[in-house]
Amino acid sequence: MQTKISTPILSYMKQLESEGITNIEELSDYLYEHYLRQVDLGLYSNGRYTLTGSDSTATVASTLVNSGEECILWCINHYLGLNRNQNVIDKVCLAVREFGTGSGTSAMSGGMSIIHKRVEDKLQHLIGKEGVLLFPTGFTTNLGCLSALPGKHDLIIFDRESHASIIDGVKLSGNKWMTFKHNNVGDLESKLNKYQDKYENIFVVIESAYSMSGDLAPLREIVALKQKYKFFIYVDEAHTFGIYGKNGSGYCSHLGLVDDVDFIAATLSKATSSIGGFVAMKSKYIPLLHWRASTYTFQACLTPGDATAILASLEEIEQNPQLIELLHEKNQYMRRCLTSLGFDLGTSQSPIIPVFIPDVEKLMAFNKELYARGIFSVSIVYPGVKPHEGRIRFILSVAHTKEQIDTTVNALYELGLKYGVIAHAMTA
Ligand code: PMP
Repeated sequence: MQTKISTPILSYMKQLESEGITNIEELSDYLYEHYLRQVDLGLYSNGRYTLTGSDSTATVASTLVNSGEECILWCINHYLGLNRNQNVIDKVCLAVREFGTGSGTSAMSGGMSIIHKRVEDKLQHLIGKEGVLLFPTGFTTNLGCLSALPGKHDLIIFDRESHASIIDGVKLSGNKWMTFKHNNVGDLESKLNKYQDKYENIFVVIESAYSMSGDLAPLREIVALKQKYKFFIYVDEAHTFGIYGKNGSGYCSHLGLVDDVDFIAATLSKATSSIGGFVAMKSKYIPLLHWRASTYTFQACLTPGDATAILASLEEIEQNPQLIELLHEKNQYMRRCLTSLGFDLGTSQSPIIPVFIPDVEKLMAFNKELYARGIFSVSIVYPGVKPHEGRIRFILSVAHTKEQIDTTVNALYELGLKYGVIAHAMTA
């Protein structure tokens, strides 16, 4: 089955499946051959790994070239750089000495420690909801909550650009579901209007900021629909918790909408540089989730060290409010540079900056050259995004220096001209 060498693996898999190749052996043979050729040509960025852990720079190796090369790292969500904060690291080391490594079992089976309890209490105060439940990851927070919360006769409507954990959770619920056009309040309203009398409840699921596009949800407008229609709203704050709102309390809090949003979920692997996830809600939903969200009931708690990293990160955010300000300043600076050079950043606003390069072949070659210049990010292509909406994504962190931003912008500028992504020279 022929395809261009630059075709991303996921697109190739879709192509093969549409051509009737579904047998696992045959499908895997085609994909493996394609993968090996891409690795060989340096086109398979997903196979890279760091030899040094992540910071604003890292030594990056790949399955073929494992000697490692120094790169500026743009694909990690440690927005506040707290994974390298000495206070956080010291507290984690102490906790591991005192509490040991793993938790050994789920919270329901006795795996919860005082540290986990402190995390839940801290999140509850920070967000200002009655109850908080801590999950082992952000992914399994969505998977567990969305499969468990809707009742048998409920409809789920979610944004078309939603993360895989939302889609999988919705599908696992077994409920009727549909999507609405990305960030399109009119489309959502027409669906609420059409279906409000046909279901017992409607759950609307959105993200506060979208990871592929870096745009923020029209949260005020969506919440305002509650005046006309009855529905629950579930907001995933994966990309805003810790970096918006007072003390990082999130985007719902930033807009003063905490009481209007029924379920506020987030991951703790991004701004708080650990792992874990949570949902904040009215306390009355807690027992329901205890017994219906399998990812809570039957999955081991995060480790005491992970839980300590969350607590310590939240303390750092509280004590250093300038961290959040600095991140947003850097975000504005990098955006100004790139837009003044003529790059298309779509409708992005958050510290996720997508640089759109619609032509897939150009995008893959562009990113390969960027990597050769010591700048590492990943390409996002169909079916992760719509065809012709491919992009390279730059995720900003407070840890990125002005020099690293400038080096990256200059490389993008030179390659942008070379590949015809931008038309002509302008000044940054
Ligand atoms: N929700 C969204 C919107 C995400 O972007 C992610 C991670 N990329 C998750 C949930 C899952 O979080 P985690 O990887 O920390 O489990």
